[in-house]
Amino acid sequence: MRAVDTDVLIVGAGPSGLMLAGELGLAGRRPLVLEKRPVTSAVERSSGIGGQALAVLRYRGLLDRFKAASPRPELAASFPFGSLHIDLSQLPGNPMRAMPLPQPELVRLLAERAAELGATISYGQEVTGISQDADRVTVDVRGPDGPYQVAARYVVGCDGGRSRVREATGIPFPGTTYPEVNRMGTVAIHDSVTVVDGRDFDVPGVGVIPFGYTHTDRGLLAVSARDPETMIVYTTEDDLAAAEAADSEEPMSLAELAASVRRVLGADLPMGEPIRLTRFAYQARQAARYREGRVLLAGDAAHLFPAGGQGIGVGVLDAVNLGWKLAAVLAGWGPAGLLDTYHRERHPVAARALMQCRAQVALRRGNDAEAAALRELFEELLTDEPALRRIAALIAGTDIRYPMPGATAPHPLAGTFAPDLTVHTDQGTTTVADLMQAARPVLLDLGGCPEARTVAQGWPDRVDVITAKADDRPADLLLIRPDGYIAWAASGSAAASGSAAASGSAAAGGNTGTGTESGLREALCEWFGAPRTA
Ligand SMILES: Cc1cc2nc3c(=O)[nH]c(=O)nc-3n(C[C@H](O)[C@H](O)[C@H](O)COP(=O)(O)OP(=O)(O)OC[C@H]3O[C@@H](n4cnc5c(N)ncnc54)[C@H](O)[C@@H]3O)c2cc1C
Repeated sequence: MRAVDTDVLIVGAGPSGLMLAGELGLAGRRPLVLEKRPVTSAVERSSGIGGQALAVLRYRGLLDRFKAASPRPELAASFPFGSLHIDLSQLPGNPMRAMPLPQPELVRLLAERAAELGATISYGQEVTGISQDADRVTVDVRGPDGPYQVAARYVVGCDGGRSRVREATGIPFPGTTYPEVNRMGTVAIHDSVTVVDGRDFDVPGVGVIPFGYTHTDRGLLAVSARDPETMIVYTTEDDLAAAEAADSEEPMSLAELAASVRRVLGADLPMGEPIRLTRFAYQARQAARYREGRVLLAGDAAHLFPAGGQGIGVGVLDAVNLGWKLAAVLAGWGPAGLLDTYHRERHPVAARALMQCRAQVALRRGNDAEAAALRELFEELLTDEPALRRIAALIAGTDIRYPMPGATAPHPLAGTFAPDLTVHTDQGTTTVADLMQAARPVLLDLGGCPEARTVAQGWPDRVDVITAKADDRPADLLLIRPDGYIAWAASGSAAASGSAAASGSAAAGGNTGTGTESGLREALCEWFGAPRTA
């Protein structure tokens, strides 16, 4: 049997696997991606990407390229949340921005980028089995020319909700399949239907169907105008057998959607030419472990959310969190335990996303007066700006703060995403987003702390040291990981006293290290391994 050897094998060329392949490519690795489909799926599951994932794409310099492929301007700042509509248009600094980009187009762009960065993407290759020992993972593959094996140092299962990698590795995937089937269509607005105020739909013989969600005792109907010519029609009906059999890749007919609308509404809704039709079920599940030895999971293989708008973003962020860590371990400088921080950081993030998605299910599924009262109360609470801001940050994933080890009283910025500051260096003016494009660790000295820069000289091959001035200076020193999150920071008196004390002790002929310097040294060792020089 043929055998192939590789450093990293990524199973699945969906958004998560391809983003990971690009991240590894940026770090100089050349992963192999195996995809069971002969070509990329043309099914438009997600129609856009938003929130924190968009910020990460910007920090990789990809936003303009993605915007150029976007069919429409930024999505309206109104998002469904458990059969309510949350209007973020008036929220100052709204964190939940979204770019329309059909999933097949997103996948095409990520595949293009991964290939440019040196990944090999091989289609028509289905992974059928996995075994591992202390040094290697052996993967069975069925390709067009027959079965063969791949030996890899690490395997990442990015193979979706029904992950073969997860199953073969024995990682449990507990959770819930909701006993309902969802059908969604984007269709031309029928000539007989009148759009009222750009929102509601006046249907002959039925009356006005209002924008948004209508609960009936047979299910849920939602209608909205995508643009003056097209509308989105969505239904949910309880049907456990259909939910268990639902496959978003299986085609659905317009007649099936129309029949579902008739059952839920008790009347016909005339619909024009279909543009997109899908049937799907919702599940709330999370893998018990994201790592088992040399096998890791990312994206839908690790979590399934029972609400729209989450899956791609969380998967892309999994990939960005894992990519540099895996590359560091392969390069030999990744400290012991670095790969375990992937589960430690990303598992709680998906658990939190699951929490808010399950809350959405509770809001959406109830058809009785009590559930209606809960929705009314929730809507009322969201007229308060702090509550609206919290929900916006929750759905955008911008409220992530990774726990940073070491410091007893960590800086308020430690563990958060580095703000996109404009900074002035000797070479000119740039931004944090630009500095992060190479996906390398950065020590940003905004406070003029030469001692800190001296400490970082122990990691010349791994950490870029940038001295700059910033109009807005949230800290004097920022140690930023390749994924854009702040590993360590120091401000004001801490950094300054470090500087002054260090200067003083240096002047006295001996530098035993200040709190700032030792904190920085500790953080550098924690994330980027032992220094090259003592
Ligand atoms: C109808 C619908 C609408 C959605 N809308 C949104 C939305 O608006 N926003 C959002 O963020 N998310 C949305 N999602 C979820 C989103 O599509 C997923 O979260 C996303 O596709 C996950 O990406 P992934 O790369 O982790 O997995 P996938 O996209 O599932 O990719 C997995 C890949 O692995 C391949 N594969 C599987 N098994 C094997 C094997 N054994 N060997 C080799 N290859 C294999 C598959 O063919 C596939 O290409 C929606 C999903 C559905 C069903």
